[in-house]
Amino acid sequence: MFEALPEPKADAILGLMAAFRADTRTDKLDLGVGVYKDSAGKTPVMRAIKNAEKKLLETQDTKSYVAPIGSAAFCNAIIAQVFGSDADTSCIRAAQSVGGSGALRVLADLLKQGRPDADIWLSDPSWPNHVPLMQAAGYALHTYPYYDAQTGSVNIEGMLESLGKAKRGDIVLLHGCCHNPTGADLSMDDWARVVKLLKDNDLFPFIDLAYQGFGDGLEQDAAAVRYMASELPELVVAASCSKNLGLYRERVGAAILMAKTEAEATRALGRLGGVIRSNYSMPPDHGANTTEIVLSDAALNADWKEELETMRLRMVSLRQAFSEALRKRSNSERFDYIAEQKGMFSRLPLNTAQLDKLRDDHGIYIVGDGRINVAGLPESGMEQLADAICTVLAE
Ligand code: PMP
Repeated sequence: MFEALPEPKADAILGLMAAFRADTRTDKLDLGVGVYKDSAGKTPVMRAIKNAEKKLLETQDTKSYVAPIGSAAFCNAIIAQVFGSDADTSCIRAAQSVGGSGALRVLADLLKQGRPDADIWLSDPSWPNHVPLMQAAGYALHTYPYYDAQTGSVNIEGMLESLGKAKRGDIVLLHGCCHNPTGADLSMDDWARVVKLLKDNDLFPFIDLAYQGFGDGLEQDAAAVRYMASELPELVVAASCSKNLGLYRERVGAAILMAKTEAEATRALGRLGGVIRSNYSMPPDHGANTTEIVLSDAALNADWKEELETMRLRMVSLRQAFSEALRKRSNSERFDYIAEQKGMFSRLPLNTAQLDKLRDDHGIYIVGDGRINVAGLPESGMEQLADAICTVLAE
Protein backbone atom coordinates (compact mmCIF):
# COMPACT_ATOMS: atom_id res chain seq x y z
CA MET A 1 0.00 0.00 0.00
CA PHE A 2 1.97 2.99 1.27
CA GLU A 3 5.20 2.04 -0.49
CA ALA A 4 3.44 2.91 -3.75
CA LEU A 5 2.88 6.52 -2.74
CA PRO A 6 5.13 9.13 -4.33
CA GLU A 7 6.71 11.80 -2.13
CA PRO A 8 4.32 14.69 -1.50
CA LYS A 9 5.19 18.07 -3.00
CA ALA A 10 6.97 20.30 -0.52
CA ASP A 11 4.85 23.29 0.59
CA ALA A 12 6.86 26.45 -0.09
CA ILE A 13 5.32 28.51 2.72
CA LEU A 14 5.68 25.76 5.34
CA GLY A 15 9.31 25.32 4.26
CA LEU A 16 9.90 29.04 4.65
CA MET A 17 8.30 28.99 8.12
CA ALA A 18 10.59 26.15 9.21
CA ALA A 19 13.67 28.00 7.93
CA PHE A 20 12.55 31.14 9.76
CA ARG A 21 12.11 29.27 13.04
CA ALA A 22 15.57 27.70 12.68
CA ASP A 23 17.22 31.10 12.02
CA THR A 24 18.96 32.27 15.20
CA ARG A 25 19.33 35.93 14.18
CA THR A 26 17.40 38.17 16.58
CA ASP A 27 16.58 40.81 13.95
CA LYS A 28 15.04 38.33 11.48
CA LEU A 29 11.76 39.32 9.82
CA ASP A 30 8.93 37.06 8.62
CA LEU A 31 6.93 38.58 5.78
CA GLY A 32 5.79 35.18 4.51
CA VAL A 33 2.97 33.56 6.39
CA GLY A 34 -0.54 34.83 5.57
CA VAL A 35 -1.95 35.61 9.00
CA TYR A 36 -2.65 39.01 10.52
CA LYS A 37 -0.08 40.16 13.08
CA ASP A 38 -0.25 43.02 15.56
CA SER A 39 2.64 45.39 16.32
CA ALA A 40 4.10 42.78 18.71
CA GLY A 41 4.11 40.20 15.91
CA LYS A 42 1.27 38.23 17.54
CA THR A 43 -1.90 36.88 15.95
CA PRO A 44 -4.21 37.44 18.92
CA VAL A 45 -7.62 35.98 19.72
CA MET A 46 -9.96 38.94 19.18
CA ARG A 47 -11.57 40.42 22.31
CA ALA A 48 -15.14 39.77 21.20
CA ILE A 49 -14.26 36.17 20.37
CA LYS A 50 -12.78 35.61 23.86
CA ASN A 51 -15.92 37.03 25.45
CA ALA A 52 -18.25 35.08 23.19
CA GLU A 53 -16.34 31.89 24.02
CA LYS A 54 -16.90 32.54 27.73
CA LYS A 55 -20.58 33.03 27.08
CA LEU A 56 -20.71 29.87 25.01
CA LEU A 57 -18.97 27.87 27.72
CA GLU A 58 -21.52 29.04 30.28
CA THR A 59 -24.64 28.58 28.20
CA GLN A 60 -24.06 25.62 25.91
CA ASP A 61 -25.94 22.63 27.28
CA THR A 62 -25.46 20.05 24.56
CA LYS A 63 -22.86 18.91 22.07
CA SER A 64 -25.35 16.93 20.08
CA TYR A 65 -25.24 17.04 16.26
CA VAL A 66 -26.48 20.12 14.43
CA ALA A 67 -26.78 19.42 10.66
CA PRO A 68 -24.64 18.95 7.53
CA ILE A 69 -25.27 22.60 6.65
CA GLY A 70 -24.51 23.69 10.23
CA SER A 71 -26.30 26.41 12.15
CA ALA A 72 -29.06 28.33 10.37
CA ALA A 73 -28.51 31.38 12.61
CA PHE A 74 -24.81 31.45 11.72
CA CYS A 75 -25.60 31.12 8.01
CA ASN A 76 -28.15 33.94 8.13
CA ALA A 77 -25.71 36.21 9.96
CA ILE A 78 -23.01 35.61 7.33
CA ILE A 79 -25.49 36.13 4.47
CA ALA A 80 -26.40 39.51 6.04
CA GLN A 81 -22.73 40.40 6.44
CA VAL A 82 -21.95 39.58 2.82
CA PHE A 83 -25.10 40.85 1.05
CA GLY A 84 -26.10 43.63 3.47
CA SER A 85 -28.55 43.55 6.36
CA ASP A 86 -31.42 44.93 4.24
CA ALA A 87 -30.80 42.79 1.14
CA ASP A 88 -33.49 40.62 -0.43
CA THR A 89 -32.19 37.20 0.51
CA SER A 90 -35.13 35.12 -0.71
CA CYS A 91 -33.02 33.30 -3.33
CA ILE A 92 -29.85 33.14 -1.21
CA ARG A 93 -28.91 30.11 0.90
CA ALA A 94 -25.78 29.15 2.83
CA ALA A 95 -24.13 26.18 4.49
CA GLN A 96 -21.64 26.53 7.31
CA SER A 97 -18.27 25.37 6.02
CA VAL A 98 -14.87 24.25 7.19
CA GLY A 99 -13.22 27.63 6.65
CA GLY A 100 -13.14 29.40 3.32
CA SER A 101 -11.23 26.45 1.84
CA GLY A 102 -14.03 24.06 2.79
CA ALA A 103 -16.55 26.42 1.18
CA LEU A 104 -14.48 26.55 -2.00
CA ARG A 105 -14.35 22.78 -2.19
CA VAL A 106 -18.00 21.95 -1.45
CA LEU A 107 -19.21 24.69 -3.80
CA ALA A 108 -16.89 23.36 -6.51
CA ASP A 109 -18.40 19.90 -5.98
CA LEU A 110 -21.93 21.31 -6.17
CA LEU A 111 -21.28 23.27 -9.37
CA LYS A 112 -19.77 20.12 -10.90
CA GLN A 113 -23.15 18.44 -10.41
CA GLY A 114 -24.92 21.39 -12.04
CA ARG A 115 -22.62 21.78 -15.03
CA PRO A 116 -20.30 18.80 -15.41
CA ASP A 117 -18.72 20.18 -18.59
CA ALA A 118 -17.77 23.60 -17.22
CA ASP A 119 -14.11 24.52 -16.80
CA ILE A 120 -12.85 26.93 -14.14
CA TRP A 121 -10.90 30.12 -14.85
CA LEU A 122 -8.47 31.34 -12.19
CA SER A 123 -6.62 34.64 -12.03
CA ASP A 124 -2.90 34.50 -12.82
CA PRO A 125 -1.60 34.73 -10.15
CA SER A 126 -4.04 33.45 -7.54
CA TRP A 127 -3.95 31.91 -4.09
CA PRO A 128 -1.91 28.76 -4.87
CA ASN A 129 -4.36 26.44 -3.07
CA HIS A 130 -7.11 27.32 -5.58
CA VAL A 131 -5.43 24.98 -8.05
CA PRO A 132 -5.48 21.72 -6.03
CA LEU A 133 -8.88 22.56 -4.50
CA MET A 134 -10.49 22.92 -7.92
CA GLN A 135 -8.56 20.06 -9.49
CA ALA A 136 -9.65 17.76 -6.67
CA ALA A 137 -13.26 18.58 -7.60
CA GLY A 138 -12.48 17.35 -11.12
CA TYR A 139 -12.20 20.57 -13.08
CA ALA A 140 -10.00 21.47 -16.02
CA LEU A 141 -8.40 24.82 -15.18
CA HIS A 142 -7.52 27.87 -17.24
CA THR A 143 -5.97 31.13 -16.16
CA TYR A 144 -6.71 34.72 -17.08
CA PRO A 145 -4.01 37.43 -16.80
CA TYR A 146 -4.69 39.60 -13.78
CA TYR A 147 -1.75 41.63 -12.55
CA ASP A 148 0.27 44.34 -14.27
CA ALA A 149 3.56 44.37 -12.36
CA GLN A 150 4.62 47.61 -14.07
CA THR A 151 1.79 49.60 -12.52
CA GLY A 152 0.89 47.36 -9.55
CA SER A 153 -2.72 47.35 -10.71
CA VAL A 154 -5.16 44.99 -12.43
CA ASN A 155 -4.52 44.19 -16.09
CA ILE A 156 -8.19 44.65 -16.87
CA GLU A 157 -7.79 44.60 -20.66
CA GLY A 158 -5.83 41.33 -20.55
CA MET A 159 -8.34 39.85 -18.11
CA LEU A 160 -11.35 40.72 -20.30
CA GLU A 161 -9.66 39.56 -23.47
CA SER A 162 -8.79 36.22 -21.94
CA LEU A 163 -12.17 35.64 -20.30
CA GLY A 164 -13.74 36.49 -23.65
CA LYS A 165 -12.37 33.13 -24.81
CA ALA A 166 -14.08 31.08 -22.09
CA LYS A 167 -16.82 28.81 -23.41
CA ARG A 168 -20.42 29.53 -22.43
CA GLY A 169 -21.23 28.06 -19.04
CA ASP A 170 -17.66 28.15 -17.72
CA ILE A 171 -17.00 29.22 -14.14
CA VAL A 172 -14.85 32.25 -13.28
CA LEU A 173 -13.21 32.38 -9.88
CA LEU A 174 -12.96 35.98 -8.70
CA HIS A 175 -11.47 37.44 -5.52
CA GLY A 176 -14.24 39.56 -3.97
CA CYS A 177 -11.70 41.95 -2.39
CA CYS A 178 -8.07 42.10 -1.23
CA HIS A 179 -6.65 39.91 -4.00
CA ASN A 180 -4.20 37.28 -2.77
CA PRO A 181 -1.29 37.45 -3.62
CA THR A 182 -1.17 40.82 -5.40
CA GLY A 183 -3.28 43.24 -3.31
CA ALA A 184 -4.56 44.68 -6.61
CA ASP A 185 -8.36 44.93 -6.75
CA LEU A 186 -10.73 45.76 -9.58
CA SER A 187 -12.30 49.23 -9.52
CA MET A 188 -16.09 49.41 -9.63
CA ASP A 189 -15.78 50.42 -13.32
CA ASP A 190 -13.69 47.29 -13.91
CA TRP A 191 -16.29 45.17 -12.11
CA ALA A 192 -19.00 46.61 -14.38
CA ARG A 193 -17.02 45.47 -17.44
CA VAL A 194 -16.38 42.02 -15.98
CA VAL A 195 -20.04 41.59 -15.01
CA LYS A 196 -21.16 42.59 -18.53
CA LEU A 197 -18.86 39.95 -19.98
CA LEU A 198 -20.14 37.30 -17.54
CA LYS A 199 -23.71 38.21 -18.49
CA ASP A 200 -23.15 38.36 -22.25
CA ASN A 201 -21.16 35.12 -22.37
CA ASP A 202 -23.13 33.17 -19.77
CA LEU A 203 -20.17 32.70 -17.43
CA PHE A 204 -20.77 31.74 -13.80
CA PRO A 205 -19.23 33.81 -10.96
CA PHE A 206 -17.54 31.90 -8.14
CA ILE A 207 -16.44 34.52 -5.63
CA ASP A 208 -13.78 33.93 -3.00
CA LEU A 209 -14.33 36.36 -0.11
CA ALA A 210 -11.59 35.65 2.42
CA TYR A 211 -10.68 39.18 3.55
CA GLN A 212 -13.94 41.12 4.06
CA GLY A 213 -13.04 44.01 6.37
CA PHE A 214 -9.32 44.07 5.53
CA GLY A 215 -9.50 46.41 2.52
CA ASP A 216 -11.73 49.48 2.66
CA GLY A 217 -14.08 48.31 5.44
CA LEU A 218 -16.58 45.56 6.19
CA GLU A 219 -19.40 47.01 4.06
CA GLN A 220 -17.17 48.50 1.36
CA ASP A 221 -15.35 45.19 0.80
CA ALA A 222 -18.66 43.51 -0.05
CA ALA A 223 -19.48 46.07 -2.75
CA ALA A 224 -18.36 43.85 -5.64
CA VAL A 225 -20.33 40.82 -4.40
CA ARG A 226 -23.42 42.98 -3.83
CA TYR A 227 -23.09 44.53 -7.27
CA MET A 228 -22.79 41.09 -8.89
CA ALA A 229 -25.82 39.89 -6.93
CA SER A 230 -27.82 42.84 -8.25
CA GLU A 231 -26.76 42.32 -11.87
CA LEU A 232 -26.48 38.58 -12.33
CA PRO A 233 -29.03 35.79 -11.94
CA GLU A 234 -26.84 33.33 -10.06
CA LEU A 235 -23.56 33.17 -8.17
CA VAL A 236 -21.73 31.44 -5.34
CA VAL A 237 -19.54 32.94 -2.61
CA ALA A 238 -16.96 31.14 -0.46
CA ALA A 239 -16.76 33.32 2.66
CA SER A 240 -14.08 32.84 5.29
CA CYS A 241 -14.12 33.94 8.94
CA SER A 242 -10.45 33.03 9.38
CA LYS A 243 -9.08 36.53 8.90
CA ASN A 244 -11.79 39.00 9.89
CA LEU A 245 -12.67 37.10 13.09
CA GLY A 246 -9.16 35.73 13.62
CA LEU A 247 -10.56 32.19 13.80
CA TYR A 248 -8.01 30.51 11.54
CA ARG A 249 -7.66 27.16 13.29
CA GLU A 250 -11.31 26.90 14.27
CA ARG A 251 -12.23 26.51 10.58
CA VAL A 252 -15.20 28.78 10.11
CA GLY A 253 -16.72 29.89 6.83
CA ALA A 254 -19.83 29.77 4.70
CA ALA A 255 -20.65 28.30 1.29
CA ILE A 256 -23.25 30.69 -0.11
CA LEU A 257 -25.36 30.36 -3.23
CA MET A 258 -27.78 32.66 -5.01
CA ALA A 259 -30.18 30.96 -7.42
CA LYS A 260 -32.77 32.25 -9.90
CA THR A 261 -35.77 31.17 -7.86
CA GLU A 262 -36.50 30.30 -4.25
CA ALA A 263 -37.31 26.72 -5.23
CA GLU A 264 -33.99 26.32 -7.06
CA ALA A 265 -32.13 27.89 -4.14
CA THR A 266 -33.70 25.47 -1.67
CA ARG A 267 -33.01 22.48 -3.92
CA ALA A 268 -29.40 23.57 -4.46
CA LEU A 269 -28.90 23.93 -0.70
CA GLY A 270 -30.27 20.43 -0.24
CA ARG A 271 -27.73 19.13 -2.78
CA LEU A 272 -24.99 21.10 -1.02
CA GLY A 273 -25.98 19.38 2.23
CA GLY A 274 -25.57 16.07 0.37
CA VAL A 275 -22.08 17.04 -0.80
CA ILE A 276 -21.12 17.84 2.80
CA ARG A 277 -22.75 14.70 4.22
CA SER A 278 -20.81 12.46 1.85
CA ASN A 279 -17.57 14.21 2.66
CA TYR A 280 -17.20 15.03 6.39
CA SER A 281 -20.85 14.79 7.43
CA MET A 282 -21.02 18.00 9.44
CA PRO A 283 -18.90 21.07 10.13
CA PRO A 284 -17.24 21.75 13.50
CA ASP A 285 -19.42 23.84 15.80
CA HIS A 286 -17.28 25.84 18.19
CA GLY A 287 -15.98 28.62 15.95
CA ALA A 288 -19.28 29.11 14.11
CA ASN A 289 -21.23 29.16 17.36
CA THR A 290 -18.81 31.75 18.76
CA THR A 291 -19.17 33.81 15.58
CA GLU A 292 -22.95 33.60 15.84
CA ILE A 293 -22.74 35.07 19.36
CA VAL A 294 -20.41 37.87 18.23
CA LEU A 295 -22.64 38.77 15.29
CA SER A 296 -25.91 38.66 17.23
CA ASP A 297 -24.91 40.39 20.49
CA ALA A 298 -24.94 44.18 19.99
CA ALA A 299 -22.07 44.93 22.39
CA LEU A 300 -19.83 42.11 21.15
CA ASN A 301 -20.62 43.01 17.56
CA ALA A 302 -19.62 46.64 18.10
CA ASP A 303 -16.41 45.60 19.88
CA TRP A 304 -15.52 43.15 17.10
CA LYS A 305 -16.07 45.78 14.41
CA GLU A 306 -13.92 48.24 16.33
CA GLU A 307 -11.05 45.77 16.68
CA LEU A 308 -11.32 44.74 13.03
CA GLU A 309 -11.20 48.38 11.99
CA THR A 310 -8.07 48.90 14.11
CA MET A 311 -6.44 45.96 12.33
CA ARG A 312 -7.44 47.32 8.92
CA LEU A 313 -6.16 50.81 9.70
CA ARG A 314 -2.89 49.37 10.97
CA MET A 315 -2.35 47.65 7.62
CA VAL A 316 -3.26 50.83 5.73
CA SER A 317 -0.72 52.86 7.71
CA LEU A 318 1.97 50.17 7.32
CA ARG A 319 1.40 50.27 3.56
CA GLN A 320 1.83 54.04 3.56
CA ALA A 321 4.95 54.00 5.75
CA PHE A 322 6.56 51.21 3.69
CA SER A 323 5.92 52.83 0.32
CA GLU A 324 7.14 56.14 1.72
CA ALA A 325 10.38 54.53 2.97
CA LEU A 326 10.89 52.84 -0.41
CA ARG A 327 10.17 56.09 -2.24
CA LYS A 328 12.87 57.87 -0.23
CA ARG A 329 15.45 55.10 -0.46
CA SER A 330 14.92 54.37 -4.16
CA ASN A 331 14.37 58.00 -5.04
CA SER A 332 11.52 56.86 -7.29
CA GLU A 333 7.79 56.33 -7.35
CA ARG A 334 8.05 52.72 -8.41
CA PHE A 335 6.80 51.42 -5.05
CA ASP A 336 3.91 53.86 -4.64
CA TYR A 337 1.51 51.08 -5.70
CA ILE A 338 1.96 49.45 -2.28
CA ALA A 339 0.04 52.29 -0.62
CA GLU A 340 -2.76 52.00 -3.18
CA GLN A 341 -3.31 48.28 -2.83
CA LYS A 342 -5.74 46.52 -0.50
CA GLY A 343 -5.68 43.92 2.21
CA MET A 344 -2.89 41.87 3.63
CA PHE A 345 -0.65 41.31 0.60
CA SER A 346 1.46 43.06 -1.98
CA ARG A 347 4.13 41.81 -4.31
CA LEU A 348 7.71 43.05 -4.52
CA PRO A 349 9.48 42.80 -7.88
CA LEU A 350 12.19 40.44 -6.62
CA ASN A 351 13.55 37.34 -8.35
CA THR A 352 14.60 34.12 -6.61
CA ALA A 353 18.26 35.14 -6.31
CA GLN A 354 17.26 38.48 -4.76
CA LEU A 355 14.85 36.78 -2.33
CA ASP A 356 17.59 34.32 -1.33
CA LYS A 357 19.94 37.22 -0.74
CA LEU A 358 17.40 39.04 1.41
CA ARG A 359 17.05 35.92 3.54
CA ASP A 360 20.76 35.06 3.73
CA ASP A 361 22.23 38.54 4.15
CA HIS A 362 19.41 40.34 5.96
CA GLY A 363 17.26 37.67 7.67
CA ILE A 364 14.17 38.81 5.72
CA TYR A 365 11.85 35.95 4.75
CA ILE A 366 9.56 36.44 1.73
CA VAL A 367 7.66 33.81 -0.29
CA GLY A 368 9.06 32.80 -3.72
CA ASP A 369 6.70 34.98 -5.76
CA GLY A 370 7.71 38.15 -3.86
CA ARG A 371 4.45 38.28 -1.90
CA ILE A 372 4.76 40.11 1.40
CA ASN A 373 2.40 40.02 4.37
CA VAL A 374 1.79 43.71 5.01
CA ALA A 375 0.81 43.02 8.62
CA GLY A 376 4.33 41.67 9.21
CA LEU A 377 6.05 44.94 8.24
CA PRO A 378 8.09 46.42 11.11
CA GLU A 379 6.59 49.72 12.31
CA SER A 380 9.96 50.99 13.48
CA GLY A 381 12.25 49.32 10.96
CA MET A 382 10.92 50.57 7.63
CA GLU A 383 14.08 52.43 6.57
CA GLN A 384 16.23 49.40 7.28
CA LEU A 385 13.86 47.13 5.36
CA ALA A 386 13.65 49.54 2.41
CA ASP A 387 17.44 49.73 2.42
CA ALA A 388 17.84 45.94 2.33
CA ILE A 389 15.32 45.63 -0.52
CA CYS A 390 16.90 48.39 -2.61
CA THR A 391 20.35 46.95 -1.93
CA VAL A 392 19.48 43.50 -3.30
CA LEU A 393 17.62 45.11 -6.22
CA ALA A 394 20.73 47.08 -7.17
CA GLU A 395 23.17 44.17 -6.97
N1 PMP B 1 -9.09 32.19 -0.22
C1 PMP B 1 -8.01 32.96 -0.14
C2 PMP B 1 -7.72 33.91 -1.25
C3 PMP B 1 -7.16 32.87 0.96
O1 PMP B 1 -6.08 33.65 1.01
C4 PMP B 1 -7.45 31.96 1.99
C5 PMP B 1 -6.59 31.83 3.20
N2 PMP B 1 -5.27 31.94 3.04
C6 PMP B 1 -8.61 31.17 1.85
C7 PMP B 1 -9.40 31.32 0.75
C8 PMP B 1 -9.05 30.14 2.85
O2 PMP B 1 -8.95 30.42 4.14
P1 PMP B 1 -9.46 29.44 5.28
O3 PMP B 1 -9.74 28.12 4.66
O4 PMP B 1 -8.35 29.38 6.25
O5 PMP B 1 -10.69 30.08 5.81
